Amino acid sequence: MTDRKLVRELQAIVGRDGVIHAPEDLLVYEYDATIERGLPEAVVLPTTTEQVSQVVKLARRHSLPVVARGAGTGLSGGAIPAAGGIMLVMTRMKRILEIDAENRLAVVEPGLVNLDLSAALSPYGLYYAPDPSSQKACTLGGNVAENAGGPHCLAYGVTTNHVLGLEVVLADGQIVWLGGRTADRPGYDLRTLLIGSEGTLAIVTKIIVRLLPLPEATVTLLAIFDEMEQASQAVSAIIGKGILPAALEMLDKVTMRAVEEAVHAGYPPDADAVLLIEVEGWQDSVDEQAEAVRAICENMGAREVRIGFTPADREALWAGRKGALGALGRLAPSYYILDGTVPRSKLPQVLRGVYQVGEKYGFPIANVFHAGDGNLHPNIAFDESQPGQAEKVLKAGAEIMRLCVDAGGTITGEHGVGMEKRDFMRWIFSDDDLEAMRRIQVAFASEQRFNPGKIFPPTEDSGETASHQRAVIQSQRPDVSI
Ligand SMILES: Cc1cc2nc3c(=O)[nH]c(=O)nc-3n(C[C@H](O)[C@H](O)[C@H](O)COP(=O)(O)OP(=O)(O)OC[C@H]3O[C@@H](n4cnc5c(N)ncnc54)[C@H](O)[C@@H]3O)c2cc1C
Repeated sequence: MTDRKLVRELQAIVGRDGVIHAPEDLLVYEYDATIERGLPEAVVLPTTTEQVSQVVKLARRHSLPVVARGAGTGLSGGAIPAAGGIMLVMTRMKRILEIDAENRLAVVEPGLVNLDLSAALSPYGLYYAPDPSSQKACTLGGNVAENAGGPHCLAYGVTTNHVLGLEVVLADGQIVWLGGRTADRPGYDLRTLLIGSEGTLAIVTKIIVRLLPLPEATVTLLAIFDEMEQASQAVSAIIGKGILPAALEMLDKVTMRAVEEAVHAGYPPDADAVLLIEVEGWQDSVDEQAEAVRAICENMGAREVRIGFTPADREALWAGRKGALGALGRLAPSYYILDGTVPRSKLPQVLRGVYQVGEKYGFPIANVFHAGDGNLHPNIAFDESQPGQAEKVLKAGAEIMRLCVDAGGTITGEHGVGMEKRDFMRWIFSDDDLEAMRRIQVAFASEQRFNPGKIFPPTEDSGETASHQRAVIQSQRPDVSI
């Protein structure tokens, strides 16, 4: 039961309808899109930066952790309150404060949904480039905290390349700006330090984003391959030829079968892999690039290359990719999405290893991913309600992450470390590296009450539980009926 005095103090800051504290209501906030769980003591929905600052000061007086949350679509347990405390849900701060078309920037609040920004910008002939596949739901604040990517980040870069400035609330409640309206500023670039810091350094309350002009022309190609190896080679060949598509995505056979049953996008379920490639820019150069991509795919053995020129045709080609993650729900009641990055040339080798891990543990694994970036997303289908399955799936996931690291890659391309992958940080970083990062955290938030239990691996004396043990505890957790 949440402390009544705390509830009253929070209500005094944000109003009665801005605080959620009934146990059954708090359950809604105990998870994100991963399989981790954790309950906050109270959920607060601020509408202004000043309210955020006051809540942070109050939490400090009560020695409580503060966890920011956007839409809760995170895939590494970032928004889960690992140590309880106050959850700041930012979704009521969703205004577009300014569109400066001349200087190609916009000032927005962090709870704004990613796709809503581009929709508002289209009358100006502009858009915001980073487009996570969750863009219909995820917030700009969550994107900043995770340094989110998306299908179109291959050519344009991820969130950090599109954020000019941030207004943030620090651990003592101070409100400060990092960066601003211009691209380069003197002194340490603390803005980039904040991007990807997963809510552990400060709470983001305003964002100045860089905007791009909508391209004059866009062409989408769907190349169908009988062998995954051919598709992987085509990825390297396209980029090796000096062509940088706006998007270069791959779907494997397991994904396509699920997609066809759910979305009927016309992807051939008997093929081993398809590539979805988008080129954009000025009309002449786009036609030339599309032709070159088609020739490369055919040379690499594509059995068929479909081309979409009109918005309707392009949308039809994308339909399967956009509906892929939802369609995977047909494979099993739960799925566990992994996020690892490997050098592009290692894709065939690592994908072979991924399927072998699936066979070893008896789980179907569907791969749908940003192939151009070498950013793999194996999706392990399983049944969370079966005892022991959560533990087993985490073990399989760990083996896949290890494959990525051993191939010269790393443990996340865009979803962050969160709770889920902090046990693997030691595979990449030495104790000295981790200590240097901790010092940065201490410099920002000396009591480390912003989103504790994230990014850093548990230490022997911290009394924290490793992911695998947590999963076992969670799978034994009794059902709560409301
Ligand atoms: C179907 C699906 C597809 C996805 N596709 C992609 C993809 O293509 N690319 C990609 O990068 N990700 C993808 N994701 C993951 C996820 O959508 C992104 O990580 C997204 O950025 C999370 O935004 P959110 O608003 O849901 O944040 P949440 O999940 O609510 O929070 C994520 C992290 O951000 C922190 N946070 C949130 N708001 C703030 C704030 N205002 N200040 C400080 N910290 C804050 C939280 O504490 C947490 O650590 C996908 C997820 C799903 C479910």
